[in-house]
Amino acid sequence: MIQYQEILNDIYNEIQPFINEGKVANYIPALAKVDPDQFAMSLTLFDGRSFHVGCSDNKFSIQSISKVFTFTRALDIYSTELYNKVGKEPSGDPFNSLIQLEHEYGIPRNPFINAGAIVVTDALLTKYKNIDNTFDNILGFIRDISDDQTIDFDKEVWFSEYKHGFRNAALANLMKSFNNIDNNVDDVLKTYFKHCSITMSTKELSRATLFLANHGVDPINQKQYITPQQAKRINAVMLTCGHYDASGEFAFHVGLPGKSGVGGGIIAVVPKVMSLAVFSPRLNSWGNSLVGTKALELFTTKSGFSIF
Ligand code: GLU
Repeated sequence: MIQYQEILNDIYNEIQPFINEGKVANYIPALAKVDPDQFAMSLTLFDGRSFHVGCSDNKFSIQSISKVFTFTRALDIYSTELYNKVGKEPSGDPFNSLIQLEHEYGIPRNPFINAGAIVVTDALLTKYKNIDNTFDNILGFIRDISDDQTIDFDKEVWFSEYKHGFRNAALANLMKSFNNIDNNVDDVLKTYFKHCSITMSTKELSRATLFLANHGVDPINQKQYITPQQAKRINAVMLTCGHYDASGEFAFHVGLPGKSGVGGGIIAVVPKVMSLAVFSPRLNSWGNSLVGTKALELFTTKSGFSIF
């Protein structure tokens, strides 16, 4: 019998010497205000039992973790047609890079870099017609998979990102010039920033991502959100592209499909067993939670769970 709580408690103690390392994202001014030294880690098993350590009820900005949820929705709607607009290869570039996009005719490498997620948001906007309907659909989906109808977004973070989102605006406009954005650029960006500013705790995130660990079916209430093939693909893209140009590092050290966000959160999936979420706002040089990555590495080492 694995002693999950003991493992989490040990991780909590072992990450303490690193808790002041790294820097909080400050290119979104509202994000720079968070208490930088927070740490939380949660895991949820298929039978509904969950284990937590640290401030696991504290909500934080999920940022790019939302890209997993928007990709899931878009795959469900468009199936493989989606890959005409966005690829599925690692980029090897930072999350907000413009360079590759120019060379590759406005088709982003994958749905987990900013350009790719903006294209996915554009596809959802085409389906749901306007910002409010599109965002309601994304938020509704996240509330369903979390089994929690109270999840919401942070208006201050949203507006702060909208006001300072110059690089994302550059990416969206560049893609529009290549005809890879169908809707009004400002509408696409507003919707994109809105889903990035959804707030959740590690407790909620580890519950919400269970369907990815179980072939697209929530193991607790048996709801099917996507097909097994699609779940397989989302996990594959998380493994190869979930941490930008540090995706190889993450696979090497942690060995699980995962996705980070600049808010300091990371989700990770142990196929057929559990989902995990960690939160610690200080980031490493690639824009991924420094302590969060260490904590997940410690978890796979201590528990022996890894896909390799
Ligand atoms: N909303 C952030 C941005 O577009 C997401 C980046 C991230 O979490 O990595 O810059």
